[in-house]
Amino acid sequence: MEQLKQRILEDGTVKPGNVLKVDSFLNHQIDIAFMNQIGAEFARRFAGSPVNKILTIEASGIGIAAICAQHFDNAPVVFAKKSKSLNLDGDLCHARVESFTHKTVSDVVVSKKFLSPDDHVLVIDDFLANGNAAKGIIDLVEKAGAELSGMGFIIEKAFQHGGDYLRNAGIRVESLAIIESLDNCEIKIR
Ligand code: 5GP
Repeated sequence: MEQLKQRILEDGTVKPGNVLKVDSFLNHQIDIAFMNQIGAEFARRFAGSPVNKILTIEASGIGIAAICAQHFDNAPVVFAKKSKSLNLDGDLCHARVESFTHKTVSDVVVSKKFLSPDDHVLVIDDFLANGNAAKGIIDLVEKAGAELSGMGFIIEKAFQHGGDYLRNAGIRVESLAIIESLDNCEIKIR
């Protein structure tokens, strides 16, 4: 997506550990008009795939998924919770996710009330790096017996190979900008 590439090149900065910071429009301040363009682009790419629910993971995915969902007939957004929030009741699906940015492992949960075998799920998240968050979400979808229609990421860091893993597993993956390298603090986009 050309406008996204331009925005990353204009606003993005590279932090130690191959972390791309895009706080001005995605990860701290959210540019709503731009997120609507991103939602429309996901809707265009996933047209033809059945989607009745959007799934993401707290915290950074929530705002993005909520805006994108409006481009999928206002499909409900379910976000996997980091399980310390024990104000969840009933039957839960659990998965373990290692955080790339925080270097912690958390148990993420989703209630079977909100993810069931009737659901055709599109996963939306901000970044795809090593794919650990994605693997955790897939685990939740499988445990809930739901169908995974596809996964949409705003930014994929190709050099961390999470995308290779998902595509080799036969999952439909759409990334709106693909970063080839952040070496020497230079952003190279495919
Ligand atoms: P993965 O599990 O694929 O290694 O990493 C995915 C998660 O880590 C994303 O949801 C995102 O929150 C965070 N992340 C990974 N790489 C970056 C990055 O370069 N910049 C930012 N801001 N977050 C990242």
